[in-house]
Amino acid sequence: MKSDRLLMLITVFQCRDYFFKKEPGQGKDRREMKIQSGEIGFDLDGVIADTAEAFIRLACNEHAFCSFTLEEITTFQVEDCLNIPIPVVEEIFNTILHDSLATGLQPMEGAVDVITEMTSAAPVTIITARSLQQPVEDWLQHFFPASVCANIRLVAMGRHDDKARYIHEHRLRYFIDDRAETCLQLADAAITPFVFSQPWNQGKHDLQSVKSWLEIHAMLAL
Ligand SMILES: [Mg+2]
Repeated sequence: MKSDRLLMLITVFQCRDYFFKKEPGQGKDRREMKIQSGEIGFDLDGVIADTAEAFIRLACNEHAFCSFTLEEITTFQVEDCLNIPIPVVEEIFNTILHDSLATGLQPMEGAVDVITEMTSAAPVTIITARSLQQPVEDWLQHFFPASVCANIRLVAMGRHDDKARYIHEHRLRYFIDDRAETCLQLADAAITPFVFSQPWNQGKHDLQSVKSWLEIHAMLAL
């Protein structure tokens, strides 16, 4: 009798797993289901590009603000957490925006390899809030071979909000961004976001997060 009940219990759990299969990005099953390369898009700054490193370096080298670390950037608006005058913050970001290559902006570790591999399966979509497209194209062409750039779709939409519209337009189901507010908006728009872990998004969401491109690679069906 006991073994019958055990069998019934096992069957119930098996049926539950069958009927309630989770989407990638939901709960513990995330790594069991792989995301197709063409279904996921990426933000640029703080995800593909190590913009915080460039900011910290320029703040010190160009403006003599040398006393803070990456971990101290705990808000997306850096002027809210660092003791740097707003005009200086704006000047640094403008410099990065207008000529990323000249500022020595580097890719995040592993980003080039993973994106390169992804482009052999499907075009990779990058949607950035930046307003200028050409400096990003120049930056991509510096770090990626021409054959890879030909398979990168870049959208410089010029504003932080309303990314969902562009993500839908490009028929993406998943998106990785470092701005918690953006990810929360995407979740409301039936897109599965992953927050790329950075000090400025800690404790600001209860969404799935990824810590590295190694982790992103493991989620993909490559
Ligand atoms: Mg970003």
